[in-house]
Amino acid sequence: MNCYQCPDCGYIYNEAKGDAHEGYPSGMKFAGLPEEFVCPDCAVRYKEDFVCIETPQ
Ligand SMILES: [Zn+2]
Repeated sequence: MNCYQCPDCGYIYNEAKGDAHEGYPSGMKFAGLPEEFVCPDCAVRYKEDFVCIETPQ
């Protein structure tokens, strides 16, 4: 499982946790998110702009 961080606001999508608030279940891979996925905090539009980071412990 990886985390992906928004380059603009620092929002982190954690694959292990998903994002229940946005309707993504725990374990949902970032790659499995819909192409129209946008950052919930600042609306960065492109998934490829998100930065893969190590999962915080
Ligand atoms: Zn953002």
